Amino acid sequence: MGKVIVLGGGAAGLMCALTAAKRGRQVLLLEKSNKIGKKILMSGGGRCNFTNYSIEPENFLSANPHFCKSALKRYTQWDFIQLVEQHGIDYEERKHQQLFCKDSAKQILAMLQSECELAGVAIWSHCEINSITALQSSSDTLHDRYQLKLSKGKSEPKESHTLSCESLVVATGALSIPSLGGSGMGYDIARQFSLKLTERRAGLAPFMFSDSFKAVCERLTGLSTEVEVSCNGQQFSESLLFTHRGISGPAILQISSFWNPGDLISLNLLPGMEADQWLCKVKLTKGKSLLKTVLQQKLSKALVAELQQLWWPTQAETSIAEFTDQQLKTIGRQLNKWLLKPSATEGYRTAEVTLGGVDTDGISSKTMEAIHQPGLFFIGEVLDVSGHLGGFNFQWAWSSGYAAGQYT
Ligand SMILES: Cc1cc2nc3c(=O)[nH]c(=O)nc-3n(C[C@H](O)[C@H](O)[C@H](O)COP(=O)(O)OP(=O)(O)OC[C@H]3O[C@@H](n4cnc5c(N)ncnc54)[C@H](O)[C@@H]3O)c2cc1C
Repeated sequence: MGKVIVLGGGAAGLMCALTAAKRGRQVLLLEKSNKIGKKILMSGGGRCNFTNYSIEPENFLSANPHFCKSALKRYTQWDFIQLVEQHGIDYEERKHQQLFCKDSAKQILAMLQSECELAGVAIWSHCEINSITALQSSSDTLHDRYQLKLSKGKSEPKESHTLSCESLVVATGALSIPSLGGSGMGYDIARQFSLKLTERRAGLAPFMFSDSFKAVCERLTGLSTEVEVSCNGQQFSESLLFTHRGISGPAILQISSFWNPGDLISLNLLPGMEADQWLCKVKLTKGKSLLKTVLQQKLSKALVAELQQLWWPTQAETSIAEFTDQQLKTIGRQLNKWLLKPSATEGYRTAEVTLGGVDTDGISSKTMEAIHQPGLFFIGEVLDVSGHLGGFNFQWAWSSGYAAGQYT
């Protein structure tokens, strides 16, 4: 029976392990931390946004936008939904066709664990990989292509093990949130076997500011507002959340994946309306009102107070009729296109994903195997494939894990 070692007990590793074991492979999954599936448990605010009703290749970022297509087609959102239903897990559709557990993300992890158990996957946690060597074929290791040396155990002295396998699957994830297992081990393995890496950076991450806008954010911390945000030709309509460091919320996390240092982002605080025209009309119909009172119909009082400080501080008590059309048009345009310059994202500490990774040019899109390194597979977030917010990253983990599990 062919032996498979999967490195990393996250979403992709678990899916690959159970798929390979169902095919009769002898599978051992090695996890470095004390528990498998930590990101699954933390995901979606504890309810795991496990997939999306509408999964399209356009929802993924990669230097090769075609790479993800084959795996996504062969293990779809419907396949995962079927598994969730088989396990009797209640789920619900939220905005933008996102699917979440009704009860708890723990159910998704329990489902994967029980599938692994049924299929006979052995899982070792607290494993530290010390070395990986590609084997030359010899009589006693005829089918084994890799040898791993590792130490296992919670505390010293640790057990030392030397293991060999025919297929080695790298599912160690990426750099985001080190406390949840984020590691660069997968990139080291790729380098060891001469695979190229694309540039990595934090994606789906909040923005920070070092200019005067930072103080505005601090004062508005906790406030959420619906916006349309754009940058580099991409646009997302979702909510924005002010934080004491800057801005976050789904709209901001989405656009952060398309932002490069130095870029401006544009916020539309009144999506769907031409604010300049609206204000000029209000001037004619409700001329006695203060501008802030008019805006408070659409935006929160605290946000309007900040905008007033920024854009019309000397006319706080001036009725809208006394503003010139030009002034109202300028304010209206700013409401529709407020240009802000983030100083940075919060980085890997809070990013939901790592953009970039193992260059897909060196990987088969059908099997996830390294093209020039037989028996070595890369799946999940370690690869240069990242999804939008909304269940796409887990779907990539399920689909790429399944693809590799079919061929290990
Ligand atoms: C807070 C948070 C919330 C998220 N919410 C969602 C969501 O709701 N929906 C969604 O689609 N995506 C979400 N994501 C993204 C999603 O969690 C990841 O894209 C997905 O988990 C990637 O799966 P993976 O298996 O490739 O990596 P991971 O899930 O990161 O798993 C990698 C595993 O490998 C282990 N490991 C690392 N190094 C080694 C080593 N050297 N040896 C052995 N094991 C190792 C790690 O401990 C970990 O268990 C969220 C991410 C975060 C951080």
